[in-house]
Amino acid sequence: MSLIFWTSYTATARGVRLKQVCCEKCGGYYYYEMIRAAQGKAAAIYNIDMSGAADRSARAANLKLAQTLMREQDPIPCPTCGHVQSKMPRSVPSGTARPAPGMPPSLVWVSRPRPDGSDGGHLATATPQHAQTGTSIVFQLPRVQLPAECCNCGKQGDGLLKTPFQIGDTPENLGLNVCESCRSALSSRAFIVAAIGWLLAIALGACVYLFATEEPRRGEQWAAVIAVTLVTGLVFNIVLPNVLVPPYGFTMLDAKRLIAKLRFRNASYAGLVAATVAAADSGGPLFADETSGQAAELANIVE
Ligand SMILES: [Zn+2]
Ligand SMILES: [Zn+2]
Repeated sequence: MSLIFWTSYTATARGVRLKQVCCEKCGGYYYYEMIRAAQGKAAAIYNIDMSGAADRSARAANLKLAQTLMREQDPIPCPTCGHVQSKMPRSVPSGTARPAPGMPPSLVWVSRPRPDGSDGGHLATATPQHAQTGTSIVFQLPRVQLPAECCNCGKQGDGLLKTPFQIGDTPENLGLNVCESCRSALSSRAFIVAAIGWLLAIALGACVYLFATEEPRRGEQWAAVIAVTLVTGLVFNIVLPNVLVPPYGFTMLDAKRLIAKLRFRNASYAGLVAATVAAADSGGPLFADETSGQAAELANIVE
């Protein structure tokens, strides 16, 4: 028995900050909403003060998030001249005014008089939207609320599909909707796939029995047959249901920025998601409630 034991805690915090950029090439100002997820870890040694450790992990996550939102930048090109600033990570081709898939669009301050006649303004999307076609769509998860339609058949959804993805140790839900009949169709498909997996494993075990073991069949040869059947059965049941059953495929491309790639079997639903992403990218700031204070502050500098 180990003399040292502990319980470790991981907390995830996510947040958004409006970033202001003064272009080093053309001198123009622009903005973008930067989203980040950060994790904090803490351990309760000998399980002493476990709630304190949970609090510490949450505090560490929030501190890391605040630092990240303050220090880091996203690769967002200047909407006027297309220049990607030298301090930005170089993950988009420079010289293009289009943001890379998943990156937020650049925003500009549009001056307009307030109803009382005084000067005012608002932030508006400056870059052309990044059109996405096909059944794979790349987007920043918090920027998009997925359609209410069923992701399998495209009819009205009845509830959320259980679609967990992990940010570190924290499970999150994608927010994919599914209708009742597709939900039961998917679970029977899962059952059939599991059954086929076991049948394949038993067939493989039978092949080992017939061709790979010598007469007379001794105890260890039977053990080999059983081991092959069990191991391949378990592997088939882990791999096959994940590949064949879900109506979507999910790949987290950038966990810190929450950029993911989703693939859909239903091409018309994929088109719906692409349209939702395009609408989010062309509709101005998404997190105006959280960033309006910052927007007003930053706008004073420009005007
Ligand atoms: Zn510029
Ligand atoms: Zn459906």
